[in-house]
Amino acid sequence: MHAAGLLDGYKPDPLAAVGGIKAERDLDIAPLCRAHSANPTSFRTTTMPRKAAQNRVKEPSFALWVKMPLLPDAVLKTDSDGKELKLRPGDVACVIHEGFKADNLYWKMRVDELRQDGRHVWVIGRWFNSSADIAATFENTADLVGFLGKTELMISEHQESTLLGSVEDVCHVVKFRDTAFITDKPLGYNTWCYRFKLMDNGRIAKLTSHCICGEVYNPDKSVQRFCITCGKWFDIYCILLSAANQSAFTLETSSKTATSILGMPIVRGALTGPLASSWRVSGSGAMIVKVLGWYRAGAFPEDWKRQLPKGFAEYASNNTALPRYECPGCSAVI
Ligand SMILES: [Zn+2]
Ligand SMILES: [Zn+2]
Repeated sequence: MHAAGLLDGYKPDPLAAVGGIKAERDLDIAPLCRAHSANPTSFRTTTMPRKAAQNRVKEPSFALWVKMPLLPDAVLKTDSDGKELKLRPGDVACVIHEGFKADNLYWKMRVDELRQDGRHVWVIGRWFNSSADIAATFENTADLVGFLGKTELMISEHQESTLLGSVEDVCHVVKFRDTAFITDKPLGYNTWCYRFKLMDNGRIAKLTSHCICGEVYNPDKSVQRFCITCGKWFDIYCILLSAANQSAFTLETSSKTATSILGMPIVRGALTGPLASSWRVSGSGAMIVKVLGWYRAGAFPEDWKRQLPKGFAEYASNNTALPRYECPGCSAVI
């Protein structure tokens, strides 16, 4: 049975995945900054985290650095079968931070270039800053960066260098486009991700505002609904419950689980429980669209539930009565 639906007329299309609110603003924390970059170039020579044994090697200057030959990649380690793990530009390097061992205490750098200087290989790139790193560099930032999720980082504007020997591993930090309702990869509460860039003058560039309150999405505090018509996310605390208080549309399928998924609102944020933990930061949109694609094609793959993030199908089955809200933009049930 078809009823008028929020997703009617919507075709799963990767190009449409970047839909959403376009308004962006800069958050200027420069007045509080005590670490202005005096260097007009984007390259800084500072002492970077290293393994203790490498602390005697001096950071090259920018002038020296640009003369070193570029490398396409560098071998990080070789496993017992002789398989090499290589570091390449574009990768995220996990850099050991003296005194720490745990993964969440590794510094993370997006690699721009690798260069050879005699027996040393230098890695140049941009550091990912945690809220603790930002607090250590800029004063009074707690309120200003309070919207950062627990595993969210901000990428630096400038480049720095470190030695290849300090790179422990290659890891992943996912770019999160928080205006979209579909993301390439579902983001859970423990996925390292980044949204914004931390400029050297203390400005956080291109912050995204959402809802009628214009706040930045905080994955650990906000719970949001997406309106397809308006292309916007709204906080459930800022909008009204819908009088309809039920699914805006229903699509009957032979699978009860698929029916629950198709009738689910597009939701993200501080959803509780382990069933939501692997996808709650980016939200349910990508999975609803995926299931809708199978529904429209008239064929579900045999392992379709396993193609969804862990726990999602069960979450949808257990939460068929999620409250419905009224979109403040167009009055649709969301
Ligand atoms: Zn709001
Ligand atoms: Zn709307």
